[in-house]
Amino acid sequence: MALFERLRDKHHEQLIFFRERVSGLKAMVAIHDTTLGPAMGGVRMRNYAGEEEAIEDALRLSRSMTYKAAGAGVNFGGGQTVVMGDPKKDKSETLSRALGRFINSLGGRYIAGQDVGTTVDDMDYLRMETKYVVGIPSSRGGSGDPSPMCAFGVMRGLEACCLAVREDDDLEGVHIVVQGVGNAGARIVDLLVGQGARITVADIDDEAVSRITRRHSVEVVPPDGVFDVKCDIFCPCALGGIINRKTVERLKCSIVAGAANNQLADEAAGDLLHKKGILYAPDYIINAGGLINVADEIYGYDEERALRKTGAIKDVLLKVFESAKQQGIPTYLAADRFAEERIEKMGRVKRTFI
Ligand code: NAD
Repeated sequence: MALFERLRDKHHEQLIFFRERVSGLKAMVAIHDTTLGPAMGGVRMRNYAGEEEAIEDALRLSRSMTYKAAGAGVNFGGGQTVVMGDPKKDKSETLSRALGRFINSLGGRYIAGQDVGTTVDDMDYLRMETKYVVGIPSSRGGSGDPSPMCAFGVMRGLEACCLAVREDDDLEGVHIVVQGVGNAGARIVDLLVGQGARITVADIDDEAVSRITRRHSVEVVPPDGVFDVKCDIFCPCALGGIINRKTVERLKCSIVAGAANNQLADEAAGDLLHKKGILYAPDYIINAGGLINVADEIYGYDEERALRKTGAIKDVLLKVFESAKQQGIPTYLAADRFAEERIEKMGRVKRTFI
């Protein structure tokens, strides 16, 4: 598909290419939709097979950010930076600062944050060249690590799921299988144990599992057995794409809800969960705490405010579940409609000349 056709296909506004001689920077910023506010999205650095793959990633991820921000109730649009290169070999101060200067040239139309292949230190370099960056360490007045806020939002989301399925949001005694106990998953386990939930964990990293078992009395299953455990909630906190035709067949739970991004391999997987009567908490709604946290830096970071907004994930999910029920549609579709409706309505409100 030609470039402009691709932009038109999923309603993207802009795709900007950056090249800088000294650092060898090859990057692009995709801006999907800025109805709600400036585009916000991560800086991903990867050894892409070629330009095609990089463009595809930038377009796909920027669109996801539009929905995530709209669903989270924050006033940002969707954007994404993609840097072509090996984060282990090609990163340098000059590269990050060159990128920062280009981002600054967009005058605030796009705000950058950390993503796969970039670190808080890279954000520090960007910050030297532009104020349009979030995810700054707390020692410098930023919001710091987003994982605790993400975990808090997921826990509130799990309460919403229990309320919808069991008419009781108490997590005590609820059996939850957590796939992946890294930054987000481990913190979710900490919170759930505090609520008296019964926890089973799995991780491909034995050290990550040991860190959890040293702290809590939890059951451990091998990574490939995680879909077969009979439980109340399957909580994906590792990779994307893990809910697919094959895994849905194996699931023995009534709820799928967790921190991982892009949990559904495709829409068919969401339809299958719906048919099987398993309640799915749309990932970009339940895991929005991290975004809400970094987005708060724009106003001068206030943890209390970020916590309050993240806590509202419970109400948003309940609305999405109710609307899915009323329309007889899968929850992933109801979430998309919820986000689209906010964008559409706000777009109309902004039409009035003030
Ligand atoms: P992380 O890398 O710290 O943790 C991921 C964990 O999953 C690791 O311990 C890894 O060993 C494990 N893992 C990988 N493959 C696995 C498998 N097949 N089976 C079991 N375990 C496996 O990453 P994170 O920051 O905790 O993020 C986890 C997920 O949540 C990602 O999808 C991320 O995009 C999403 N997310 C995280 C945040 C956040 O603030 N951390 C916010 C929003 C979304």
